[in-house]
Amino acid sequence: MLLQEEPLKELAERLPRKLILQSAQEVIDSYRRCIMDAETAADLESLKIVPAELAAEAALKAESHAGTSLRAVINATGTILHTNLGRAPLPQCAVDALADTAGTYCNLEYSLETGERDSRMAHLEELLCELTGAEDALVVNNNAAAVFLVLNTLASGGEVIVSRGQLVEIGGSFRIPDVMSASGARLVEVGTTNKCYPGDYEAAINEHTALLLKVHTSNYRIMGFTREVERGDMVELGRRAGISVMEDLGSGTLLDLASPELPSEPTVPECLDAGVSVVTFSGDKLLGGPQAGIILGKKKIIDELHRNQILRALRVDKLTIAALENTLRLYFDPHTALAEVPVLRMLKREKEDLKRQATELQRLLQNELQHQQGEWEVTEGTSTVGGGAFPLAELPTYLVSFKAEGISPGKLARELRFADPPVVVRLQHDCLLMDVRTILSGQEEQIVSAMRNALDKLT
Ligand SMILES: *Cc1c(COP(=O)(O)O)cnc(C)c1O
Repeated sequence: MLLQEEPLKELAERLPRKLILQSAQEVIDSYRRCIMDAETAADLESLKIVPAELAAEAALKAESHAGTSLRAVINATGTILHTNLGRAPLPQCAVDALADTAGTYCNLEYSLETGERDSRMAHLEELLCELTGAEDALVVNNNAAAVFLVLNTLASGGEVIVSRGQLVEIGGSFRIPDVMSASGARLVEVGTTNKCYPGDYEAAINEHTALLLKVHTSNYRIMGFTREVERGDMVELGRRAGISVMEDLGSGTLLDLASPELPSEPTVPECLDAGVSVVTFSGDKLLGGPQAGIILGKKKIIDELHRNQILRALRVDKLTIAALENTLRLYFDPHTALAEVPVLRMLKREKEDLKRQATELQRLLQNELQHQQGEWEVTEGTSTVGGGAFPLAELPTYLVSFKAEGISPGKLARELRFADPPVVVRLQHDCLLMDVRTILSGQEEQIVSAMRNALDKLT
């Protein structure tokens, strides 16, 4: 019966009948639950069941079921490595490489020179070694997989020594102690939350020790009276005891990004140069490439990782290799990387440039939406890096803020998420803010149109 209502009848010409039926059933079920849950006559009364409205609701559901679930969105939050929004947008050359390789065959595991089988890592190994000075390299699905593979290969059944101040949780699902136990290695904690000395490691080393692990505490800092053992000292401890040192760098950057706003972070080449035996980091954090876990280090160790059967379950596909290879190639010239890798470009944007973009966006909104309610203003604020990188860095930025009598910023933000493409904004102190740092060029018009439709609906 609901299907005879206008909104659904119209849809029946475009969408599969099964999808419409399913959506109508979902709406009916949700109302049925409301009726069952009603406790008083007034509760029932307030439900107001109107077939046309149920049909309209079902039509909206059907449309959203019919559309793809994973969609491009506009990131107006200013958080550069927004994990929930897919972390790094890829450099254009990586996007082109994906388009070139995705719909066709490629030489993934095939040597064009000999016509014989080759390793899929061949596309990345040399490149990574040249860029970082590593002896050998291996790439897996993400950094969590990288850490797991190294621990499982080198330390299963043995002990791994970690400073208590480095037992981090990242993004709610990656916890060093949990990854450790899944890998079969035993965690040995040394030091205290804020202080750890070389002697603490020395006292914990015994015949079961398989690895000394240093974890980059990427998403927080312990402030005040703190002490961690320097990388060089750990390498020295390991050398004397004949034990390898592993470092989980987390975001891992190939370039020194230090600036007045950004503290100095250890670069990947620096860690390898200091003598760390094996380093792991993410492909989609500061590197600015696709999701991947990059493992660099001594050839003997990488060879061992290759022999671990689990590697097969963690290996990367052709799309990751295509995107990563092309991102990495940009790093041969640091200036090219800074100009072409979106993550680095956003990180290094000048205040003047941000101010100009914010002023233009504000003017555009003011002019185009002058018949609608609301005030647009440019204000100063800060952006965060995100993805666990540079946890304390506050990058000065410019924001466009919106305020209107009687329009709730939360409701407006919700409407903007239903736009095409959806716009994700920042809500702060009951104010809707758009940070221009992460708004890509050409997205301004789309923001204006999303805002126009959203305000139409709310007023
Ligand atoms: C982000 C991070 C990880 C997890 O990396 P993924 O690529 O997201 O799997 C592990 N360790 C540290 C220190 C991190 O910052």
